[in-house]
Amino acid sequence: METIQGFITRIPIEYKDEFVRNIYKENLFRLLVCASLMIIAETVIYLFFLDRIFNTGHIVLSIIIFNVVSLPLLYVAYKHIDGYRTELVQLLQCVYLTGMLLLAASIGVVAQNEFVSINPYVIAVFAIAAIMINPPIENMVMLIFVYAAFFYALPYYQANNDVVVVLRINAFIMNVLAWVLSRFVFRMKVVQFLDKKIIEAKNSELIDMTNRDAMTFLFNHNNCYLKLGEEIERAKRIGYPMCVIFMDIDDFKQINDLHGHQAGDEVIIEIARILKDTCRSTDILCRYGGEEFAIIIPDTSLKDATSLAERIRININNTKFFNGAHVTVSGGISEFTGESVEELIRKADLQLYKAKCNGKNRFETDYSSHST
Ligand code: GH3
Ligand code: MG
Ligand code: MG
Repeated sequence: METIQGFITRIPIEYKDEFVRNIYKENLFRLLVCASLMIIAETVIYLFFLDRIFNTGHIVLSIIIFNVVSLPLLYVAYKHIDGYRTELVQLLQCVYLTGMLLLAASIGVVAQNEFVSINPYVIAVFAIAAIMINPPIENMVMLIFVYAAFFYALPYYQANNDVVVVLRINAFIMNVLAWVLSRFVFRMKVVQFLDKKIIEAKNSELIDMTNRDAMTFLFNHNNCYLKLGEEIERAKRIGYPMCVIFMDIDDFKQINDLHGHQAGDEVIIEIARILKDTCRSTDILCRYGGEEFAIIIPDTSLKDATSLAERIRININNTKFFNGAHVTVSGGISEFTGESVEELIRKADLQLYKAKCNGKNRFETDYSSHST
């Protein structure tokens, strides 16, 4: 997966929900901190500095009430974000931010006569851009909505038409700049998220590689036992049948002796490929040892495992290896009937031994403890 470093950075669809939940969780936490600080700061202003804030006391009081009402809602959304639809959280966040912007714009409108500036509105617009991680479209809609309210309310509080025009232009420029800033903040978050995903994917690739045999990319000997242990537990829990095929290349020493070890390696790689092509994706393919393979087959009866083994045998038998060489395999099949990992492999190995004794290029099935 590549990150696109252009202006528009897209999130692959499979990560979208995780990304959206991530940013809203982070946003809600920031909003909780901001709302708490707002309540404290505005209460102090209202109680001790009311005489200095001209005629905006009622707006300050509205900010306190608005935050006191919003705080528990934001807290509940933050605590239970995984249980809600993201759209609902998104809506709550939008309503809160729009409300705060409107209140800040109201101070800007009402108090601009005293301040000859619209500072609180500009501060709110930039604070939201810098603190929140909002999708650009969502942010733009919010900014336009509040700017429109500001635009139309301004003449009611400012008689001088020239001042109205200048303040409208100033507010417009500040909104555009704040939107660009919010766009960068959002893009940084997207790139950071995608980079994290790339590192996670590489890490799991590395972990996977250490579990696999370097030549065939099948699970190695150690992991064969681990996987078999896991599958035995699953078969016990769910109660479905599970089988193991143990397989060995016939007369492999001869191939090495006649054609060299490199040719022998190629045979092993080709047989691994045939196994991958013949088995289902849920079957677990292992290179047990040098030229021995184990196949763990979950949710499969002994009869179906025997048919699969036969298909594998035929596919290998019909394949022309290097210089048209003919290679065959023998194997044993056993079904899990409550024994240990080692015991299950030993049962299949015993059948493999039988197959070798019975003339090779064949599979033998252990029906001794077959349940049905
Ligand atoms: P049988 O039909 O009874 O299995 O006879 P065989 O000759 O195949 O005997 P065996 O299974 O004992 O042969 C194992 C040989 O496989 C010995 C070893 O040199 C060779 N071998 C094991 N691992 C590799 C490998 O990774 N590459 C190559 N080229 N040879 C390997
Ligand atoms: Mg062998
Ligand atoms: Mg062999």
